[in-house]
Amino acid sequence: MCTVRHHLSDGFAISARRYSEAAASLGRPGILQQDFIRQLGELEEAMRHSEAAFRALRKHINEHQCSAGYSNGREGRVQMNSTRAV
Ligand SMILES: [Zn+2]
Repeated sequence: MCTVRHHLSDGFAISARRYSEAAASLGRPGILQQDFIRQLGELEEAMRHSEAAFRALRKHINEHQCSAGYSNGREGRVQMNSTRAV
């Protein structure tokens, strides 16, 4: 398990949960106008945070290719075959 990816996906999960909670709170009945405006601002903030967290995670996966080694061990098999062929 890639610890950087683990850390980044944790951060993304936390900010995405905040985003989701902010979105849900806008739909609550009986919300005051000033609270609604404040919560709309919080929703935008949470959205930016979760987008940034997702971009960081995506960037890491692209650059590190850390998902490649965990798929099904195909890389290892290719290496074994080429060693045998030599
Ligand atoms: Zn990684």
